[in-house]
Amino acid sequence: MTEIIDGKAVASEIRDDLTDAIERLADADARPGLATVLMGDDPASQTYVNMKQRDCEEVGIESTHVDVDGDAPAEALYDAIADLNDDPEIHGYIVQAPVPDHVDYREVIRRVDPAKDVDGFHPENVGRLVAGDARFRPCTPHGVQKLLAHAGVDLEGADVTIVGRSDIVGKPLANLLIQKADDGNATVTVCHSRTDNLAEKTRRADIVVAAAGAPELIDGSMIGEGTVVIDVGVNRVDADTEKGYELVGDVEFESAREHASAITPVPGGVGPMTRAMLLYNTVRAVSLQADVDVDL
Ligand code: NDP
Repeated sequence: MTEIIDGKAVASEIRDDLTDAIERLADADARPGLATVLMGDDPASQTYVNMKQRDCEEVGIESTHVDVDGDAPAEALYDAIADLNDDPEIHGYIVQAPVPDHVDYREVIRRVDPAKDVDGFHPENVGRLVAGDARFRPCTPHGVQKLLAHAGVDLEGADVTIVGRSDIVGKPLANLLIQKADDGNATVTVCHSRTDNLAEKTRRADIVVAAAGAPELIDGSMIGEGTVVIDVGVNRVDADTEKGYELVGDVEFESAREHASAITPVPGGVGPMTRAMLLYNTVRAVSLQADVDVDL
């Protein structure tokens, strides 16, 4: 019987723990504040930002939003970042990607105060993560770790194949899973678009994490018996639905579940975890800045 790993349920448990932690922070007069920054009016980004604001409300995090005109020079975004860096009420913030083409996203990330970088993308935070001293674990990889822990997956010595080497998912996840730690100690293979014989790498794995952004790239024939399958992908494909599309993962769910011992659905798997881990990082940010131990 294949276990369907319920990301919504795990995320809800994490939010409950965070609500308790936020109450403990309030006792110490520390109230977490998260800001979202959006440059331009990309509808998908607006949806993501709205969801993040709603998530904050639900657990008692004060949230603020800053809009920057998409046609403004990069300096307008840099000014907004500088203001947030200086604002003592804001403990963490994210600059929603993508930014307009005339803005260099790497430069944007470099300007974020690393102590408020709840995405965990600043080079200082990336370096700390690689060195095994993470200040903030990036939200999606951290969510994947939490899902694996919740499903009782033993990572010690496990062969993990990650499909995707992006800076926000594949690379940080690989770095986390090889750490000498209870939620690490795995042997990791990282695949990408130039990888030869992808199916051979996924078939031999104990755990496959798909983060390629390629709809249903991995089907059942690429999954070995008893494999744990974590599908990070979220892809819109044309469909005969009211909206004219549906969301599918990077894994062909029906054929993969026939071989997997456990698998995440899309939607309802990794997505809710990413959102929950942003709240987690915000609570962690205020606990570090206010020097209050909230036992996360
Ligand atoms: P990127 O496009 O930044 O990276 C995709 C990676 O997959 C690249 O390393 C690319 O290789 C590799 N890749 C693409 N096609 C193939 C292929 N056919 N075979 C092998 N490797 C391939 O994507 P992200 O990491 O940002 O996101 C990945 C997916 O996860 C997307 O669907 C995204 O929407 C989703 N996502 C979901 C989140 C969630 O919360 N559920 C959060 C973040 C992302 P190369 O480097 O060679 O180009």
